[in-house]
Amino acid sequence: MDEIRIYPDPVLIKKAIPVQNIDQKIKKVVDRMVNVMYANKGIGLAAPQIGILNQIIVVGLGRDWRVLINPEIVEGEGESVMEEGCLSLPNIEVPVKRMEKVFIRAWNLDGEEVSLELSNFLGRVYQHEIDHLRGILIIHHISRLRRELLIKRMIKDLKRSQERTVL
Ligand SMILES: [Zn+2]
Repeated sequence: MDEIRIYPDPVLIKKAIPVQNIDQKIKKVVDRMVNVMYANKGIGLAAPQIGILNQIIVVGLGRDWRVLINPEIVEGEGESVMEEGCLSLPNIEVPVKRMEKVFIRAWNLDGEEVSLELSNFLGRVYQHEIDHLRGILIIHHISRLRRELLIKRMIKDLKRSQERTVL
């Protein structure tokens, strides 16, 4: 099982590159992503979160999951603010302003072009995952001062829990 990359892992702030063709290698990456997402009780995961810099996201609600290859937000409207967390930023929740409704174009796993219209919570999840492909995390949606404070606290917490595991 892959481990989730945790901030400040540099892979998380790099831009992912588009998938050229969907071969067995890419399908294996998708399997790994789905496994990691469910094992960590996430509702979405982007490939950089397991260290792979390709434009792939998975979103799963319940047992249904969907994979999007090279997703692109072509249009959006409205805005709303909601607290979000991220598997790569343990114990951090910050308010993130996002579009209320988005139109997304992508490929599915068969290489067919799909168009999606998503709103509210689900639209937010997809926007969060697509952000990952551009190296943008939820902490990039808040002020620098607040970001530095939260990260300092997160790293301290992580160190403390690692020490506990060692002992
Ligand atoms: Zn995330």
